[in-house]
Amino acid sequence: MSTDETIAVIGSGPAGLAAALALRAVGKPVKIYERYASPKPAGNILNLWPPSIKALECLGVDVDDIGAPCESTFRNHRDRLRADVHISEDVVRAYGGGFIGLLRPDLFTRMLAALPDETLVGEHEVASFEDHGDHVEVRFIDGTSVRTPLLVGADGINSTVRRKLLGEAPMREHNLHVIGGYTFDVPDGVDTRKAIIRHSRTVQGSYTGVRSDGRDGAEWWFVEAMDPAAPAPTSLHEHSIELAKEFPADLQQLVARTDPAHVIRWPIRDRGVPPREWARGRVVLAGDAVHATSPYAAYGAGMSIVDGYFLGQVLATTDLSDTAAVEAALQTYQAHRVDHCSDQVAQAYMLGRTFHHTPAILRPIRDFMLDRTPFLQKQVGDKNPAEINAQLGLMGRDLFHPAKARA
Ligand SMILES: Cc1cc2nc3c(=O)[nH]c(=O)nc-3n(C[C@H](O)[C@H](O)[C@H](O)COP(=O)(O)OP(=O)(O)OC[C@H]3O[C@@H](n4cnc5c(N)ncnc54)[C@H](O)[C@@H]3O)c2cc1C
Repeated sequence: MSTDETIAVIGSGPAGLAAALALRAVGKPVKIYERYASPKPAGNILNLWPPSIKALECLGVDVDDIGAPCESTFRNHRDRLRADVHISEDVVRAYGGGFIGLLRPDLFTRMLAALPDETLVGEHEVASFEDHGDHVEVRFIDGTSVRTPLLVGADGINSTVRRKLLGEAPMREHNLHVIGGYTFDVPDGVDTRKAIIRHSRTVQGSYTGVRSDGRDGAEWWFVEAMDPAAPAPTSLHEHSIELAKEFPADLQQLVARTDPAHVIRWPIRDRGVPPREWARGRVVLAGDAVHATSPYAAYGAGMSIVDGYFLGQVLATTDLSDTAAVEAALQTYQAHRVDHCSDQVAQAYMLGRTFHHTPAILRPIRDFMLDRTPFLQKQVGDKNPAEINAQLGLMGRDLFHPAKARA
């Protein structure tokens, strides 16, 4: 067994990379153990809200021109405006836009560029761990193990660390899937500084601008109800072309111009309501391991990155040899994160139910309300962006200067 005082982060997704960057930034030695040889971005399309951009910047990640800053609106499939997502001018100015559209591999490239190569240890799949009070022993499936003063479980929705720490949490199927792609062959009429989220009676058909390596493009996606036991459509691209037919020409053209190799499908699921307990002893969870979220939030990766930021902040001045101090810091981290992330998980689930699982007989009434009342404006146009951007204040100036008023 190797023994040292290095923090062990499990998983090299957005949560693990952010946690490692934050811990390094506050002077804590850290290693990431990843089951694959190298980090694998889970897909292509991504949008980030301002708190994640602030976190990335504070963690030393180059966020210059990282994506397309987009203004977002919700519309019906005939393009009638339902909600305008309000982000204050000062936030837009400070963080390069309300909603940043980017390609997921670009985020990984930039986060990895900010970490020394030796931080990442590939082909190390965690099998189990034991918290011995003054240290944790982490065991890998190849039979090797390490000792660490702190174990960060950032191992995603099927987290081994969470299962051992808190027990099994059943998977919650949303009976939805997302099919999405991207193209740099942008048709006239598509504004790559806009995110347009449209819903028909049964399908969401949306797009946002993206930037990658200085090129402007667009990513698009559909969300529709599906039976998780049913096979995927034979051709995702052909299926998307069909779905696009009930939406305006801009989306139809984007789909038509997309290379079928750039189209991916994801069944949507989470682990239900996140636990109130995110840490026990010297073990703590971050990212989808503790708050797997429907993409309706477009915030799962964002929350994961901000988790890492807060972990760095609470551990910045903590003596890792002092078990009580470590536990107290982790409780502070949990207190900052649990309500906000739980609310986001709940809201994302609720939106998926409302848009895709309302009984057919009630859909005309639902759509009348969405078209003619301020319901959606209040929820997704005003309340949700205000809650997300309130994180900017809680995050304080940087890792070493937390905001005074804490949750
Ligand atoms: C279709 C879709 C669209 C989305 N869009 C957005 C969006 O626009 N904005 C946004 O913010 N979020 C979005 N999300 C959510 C986002 O992708 C996730 O919330 C995010 O990837 C979670 O990051 P993570 O690091 O917690 O987990 P993951 O990205 O799942 O990473 C976990 C890592 O742990 C590793 N691992 C797992 N088990 C072990 C083990 N036992 N030992 C070692 N390593 C292990 C895995 O290989 C992986 O590298 C979207 C999700 C989907 C499906």
